[in-house]
Amino acid sequence: MTAHVLVNNQFVLSGVLAKQRAAFLQDGPPDLKQRKADLAHLKSAVLARRAAIEAAVSSDFGNRSAYETRIMELIPLIQTINYLRRNLRKWMRPERRRNSLHFIPASSYVMYQPLGVVGIISPWNYPFSLALMPLATAIAAGNRVMLKPSEHTPATSALMKDMLGKLFPEDQVSVTCGGPETGSVFASLPFDHLVFTGSTAVGTSVLKNAAENLVPVTLELGGKSPAILGHDADFERAAVSIAYGKLANAGQTCIAPDFVLVPRDKATTFAEHYKTAVQALYPEGAASRNYTSIINARHQTRLRDLLADARKKGATIVPLGPETPAGNDTGKASPVLMLNVTMDMAVMKDEIFGPILPLVTYDSIDEAIKLVNRHDRPLALYYFGNDGEDRRKVLARTTSGNVTINDTLMHYVQNDLPFGGVGASGMGAYHGPEGFRNMSHAKGVFEQSRWNLGGFLRPPFRRVTDIAIRYLLW
Ligand code: NAD
Repeated sequence: MTAHVLVNNQFVLSGVLAKQRAAFLQDGPPDLKQRKADLAHLKSAVLARRAAIEAAVSSDFGNRSAYETRIMELIPLIQTINYLRRNLRKWMRPERRRNSLHFIPASSYVMYQPLGVVGIISPWNYPFSLALMPLATAIAAGNRVMLKPSEHTPATSALMKDMLGKLFPEDQVSVTCGGPETGSVFASLPFDHLVFTGSTAVGTSVLKNAAENLVPVTLELGGKSPAILGHDADFERAAVSIAYGKLANAGQTCIAPDFVLVPRDKATTFAEHYKTAVQALYPEGAASRNYTSIINARHQTRLRDLLADARKKGATIVPLGPETPAGNDTGKASPVLMLNVTMDMAVMKDEIFGPILPLVTYDSIDEAIKLVNRHDRPLALYYFGNDGEDRRKVLARTTSGNVTINDTLMHYVQNDLPFGGVGASGMGAYHGPEGFRNMSHAKGVFEQSRWNLGGFLRPPFRRVTDIAIRYLLW
């Protein structure tokens, strides 16, 4: 991109931000009725375009079944909108707080005020819901929104731009399409809050850009989310759940189980169950209509390189289903299980983001915990098993964004739970009341009463001052 286009981008984007901010100051915060109406319009617009959304996402990927888009994107989005509408009244109400003792009977409360203009940068892997869920939350919290979706899903981004352009005036919601250069200009704008969903590397640069303007940032990043199978896990059920979590969207899911930790004496049992589970989910392997393509050639090559590196270092690669020929034009990558995995393999260093499942064995739960803690703090952690002691240990001694026990992915669709990362997997959270609060300013308000003990603490000091001090120092 030429410097001229960059300057032009900067100029246009700054103009939109100025317009949104002016409109926000002019109109004041939207009331409950307005917010609920905006969310209802958003919901109707999405439902009216269901088929077009499913087609756009599928064309962006090469292939993604309409069911997968419905289940992984549309249901979570619509459920989020319903949840926001149901809870808004309660969240918008000022929250009464206790007064410091010597100020009774004055009153203290917190009012949740919209921040103003929220910037949202979204990724390609769930291109529709990961743009619109933060957008719905920002609207619920009374903000205006500037959105920059991913350049890797042009059809979905164009559809969102068209849909949101018809729904909202530009001074309320605007969509800017573009790649990393536009993203970088976008992240340098003085928003009132910036939500970024994407890779840890880009998130680091976004945080730096935002810091220049002291813009508070929510970072929804990735990482290696482990699945630990306890010694008493139901290995058959666990394998089904891990296969589903790993292979939905062909592994291109931020909270997909990245690798499994299995007790050494159960490795063969798990491997057999995993093969059966994958076979049941996708009988024709990668050729199945319900199996999603890898987004682009760069990621297909990246996955092939991960396999080649592991093979060279001694891993056993077990193909699950018919192999896809190299350079296949459907962009599909076959599911594989990887055995004899060592920590020096690239597959155990970077987030896999594809249908490869490395199986790592352990001898004691402490060793499994140590292995998890050798990596950055993950976005999600999965534990399978019912042994109370081991489970407690895993929960207490590992730090991950979220946890699902005895299943995969499902914490994401619990609307009332906060969702987010910790450390290298992100900061801040959305979903749940935390999402609303994250995009609001919690303004503490103290309302003084006519009479209170605090008056005795001002000059002229008298005997009653000493009594009050003695009481307060007690
Ligand atoms: P990415 O970081 O490459 O891109 C994300 C967005 O950032 C895109 O819109 C892109 O155009 C923009 N961008 C690129 N360079 C930029 C820059 N220098 N400044 C500002 N913006 C820039 O991520 P991706 O490849 O689209 O998504 C995959 C990653 O996202 C994976 O690591 C995955 O784990 C993570 N992810 C996390 C979540 C979550 O909720 N935590 C959800 C989905 C994906």
